[in-house]
Amino acid sequence: MAVLKPSTPIVPEPLPFIDLQAQRKRIGNHIDKAVARVMEHGQFVLGPEVKQLEDALAQFCGARHAITCANGTDALILVLMAEGIGPGDAVFVPSFTFVATGECVALRRATPVFVDVDPRSFNMEPASLDRAITVASKAGLTPRMVIAVDLFGRPADYSALRTVTDKHGLTLVADAAQSFGARLGETRVGVLADYTTASFFPAKPLGCYGDGGAILINDDTKAELLLSLRLHGQGNDRYDNVRIGLNSRLDTLQAAILLEKLRIFDSEIEARNEAARRYNALLSDIAVTPEMDQGITSVWAQYTILLSDSGTRKAVQSSCAASGVPTAIYYPIPLHRQTGYREFSMDPEGLPHSDWLAERVLSLPMHPYLTAAAQEQISRAVSDGILAGAT
Ligand SMILES: *Cc1c(COP(=O)(O)O)cnc(C)c1O
Repeated sequence: MAVLKPSTPIVPEPLPFIDLQAQRKRIGNHIDKAVARVMEHGQFVLGPEVKQLEDALAQFCGARHAITCANGTDALILVLMAEGIGPGDAVFVPSFTFVATGECVALRRATPVFVDVDPRSFNMEPASLDRAITVASKAGLTPRMVIAVDLFGRPADYSALRTVTDKHGLTLVADAAQSFGARLGETRVGVLADYTTASFFPAKPLGCYGDGGAILINDDTKAELLLSLRLHGQGNDRYDNVRIGLNSRLDTLQAAILLEKLRIFDSEIEARNEAARRYNALLSDIAVTPEMDQGITSVWAQYTILLSDSGTRKAVQSSCAASGVPTAIYYPIPLHRQTGYREFSMDPEGLPHSDWLAERVLSLPMHPYLTAAAQEQISRAVSDGILAGAT
């Protein structure tokens, strides 16, 4: 006879951080059919779905060209290659981001220069950028490019950043790995900078079932160049490679999957925004919740709150873990403090906001299929953690 130990606590079903199964329930049969079609025609590399997806992505965000590639990191590397960025060049990146934003610069043997972020939007601060450019010039580097990141799905302040890049004659790139689908007013991410890079890693708002990426661009000549660069630097003659390139293509299978997911993406963006509004209503009295500014439509790659200090955060994490609520810290160590990146320079006033955020951020489960009931469970766990942290 099974005996329930009286001390066994009742732990609710663990919640997923991102629920890919819920999406599969909705469109799984369409995706399976799309995959079967690719199996049937057998054009696994640069098959017809790749061009179909590129046309659909370009149309979706109103850009002239979308060039798909193997992942979001390669998308950034390809952009740096297209601009001929190399040794002696300075590329300005936020410190509070995923490593790929700085990595692509260092990989090209150029110098990443770290810029601070605004503690409210999590995105690059134009004043910090301006100071970093001045200091890089004084150090003998050639300022060439700014890579702004739309952190957690919210577009950076491109008009303010553009003022700074115009003043110094720099190329403006949007690392939109987390923000594909987001908008500033009616304008979609994809046309807010000179180049926009996207990632289709499964956990991104528009994710495939493996790695994938894209570059969005309006310039026809650069689009041609990017097509060549992602294919070993191929010229008109297939065996005459006219430049040094990469092998960086999106698999036809992933393109076929993304075409199906793109069909429902707008409704998923709406559902993510509803979930974010519900979270804000539940949590804004007990934690710092993300601001929802008029005219900015985030895609909520992450829903991230701020706690008063790292001790409180630890208590909230424990309380959530105990009630089956997964949490994550994006990002615990800003780039300028990571072992491989410490040698590079930064805003001469330091990066106090990046440091401050790294101690306090906590990301909660976020996906389009999150229910109000699950969010109530999550907010109770957060609230219990805050109370426990205060004692
Ligand atoms: C995910 C991510 C990338 C890299 O994308 P991959 O497809 O994983 O290579 C780059 N920048 C940011 C900000 C990201 O979140």
